[in-house]
Amino acid sequence: MSYHRGHRRRRRNGLCGHGLCAVCVLCGLFYSSACAVEYLPGVAWPEPEVVTPGKTNSQPPSDSIVLFDGKDLTEWNDDGSWKVEDGAMIVGNRDIRTKKKFGDCQLHIEWQMPNPPRGQGQHRGNSGIYFMPHYERGRNLFWKYEIQILDSYDNKTYFDGQAGAVYKQSPPMVNAMRPPGEWNTYDIVFTAPRYAEDGSLKSPAYVTLVHNGVLVHNHFEMSGPTSYIAPPAYTGHADRLPIGLQNHGHKVRYRNIWVREIPPIVGTQEHVPMLRAGDLRWPVDEERPEE
Ligand code: MG
Repeated sequence: MSYHRGHRRRRRNGLCGHGLCAVCVLCGLFYSSACAVEYLPGVAWPEPEVVTPGKTNSQPPSDSIVLFDGKDLTEWNDDGSWKVEDGAMIVGNRDIRTKKKFGDCQLHIEWQMPNPPRGQGQHRGNSGIYFMPHYERGRNLFWKYEIQILDSYDNKTYFDGQAGAVYKQSPPMVNAMRPPGEWNTYDIVFTAPRYAEDGSLKSPAYVTLVHNGVLVHNHFEMSGPTSYIAPPAYTGHADRLPIGLQNHGHKVRYRNIWVREIPPIVGTQEHVPMLRAGDLRWPVDEERPEE
């Protein structure tokens, strides 16, 4: 009933639904002709490539490198101890690394904790995702940018060592863990650090992590690669290195692993940023010229 009363009132004022639209269009025309100034950034951008997404957001897009599709370990260097069973790869006796090397990348990976759970704290379903694993030869330190894998469902440990932690640098913002036996997903955006020619750090590593659809790190700035025994330190390494998975003695299962390389978008500054009105153009930091 209230709809009909309101409708009649608007019609008496000449402002029914259609009338309002007409007024808005007229206002828009007047505004655009009176204030027809356009900002011109002056940057020529490359056209974004067309990528065909997967049928679901968990499935690999057309430009991804599939690291494990449930069949075999051909994309990995392993010692034969990692097994493929029921479409999952199961942690073996050593860490495992990809044959290909990566810098900036987007990684999708699914993982499942042993069920029933056994052990407590760090001794329950421990593994990890290693970006850019490498040795610092002088001190014989093993470095990597590690996102922790752990059974953190009803299992307390130090917070910067629980599932979703940037190991010993930051806990996840929330604990989005699924119970043992269910599959967890990580969608990770990793930005590799940049080094100058003299080995000094130009820009640090960053990580964004979505755990089971829940954001737990938002462009987190890493203070260096991670280590169990040493404080984080940027000591220089190659631009591209493998991705690794940790053996910590627990039979964690992985499936549906794919990665996309994500080169930064680079445009060409063709002219300084300008404003335009009709045939007039002027730099944004200058007065509008007389017509
Ligand atoms: Mg670990």
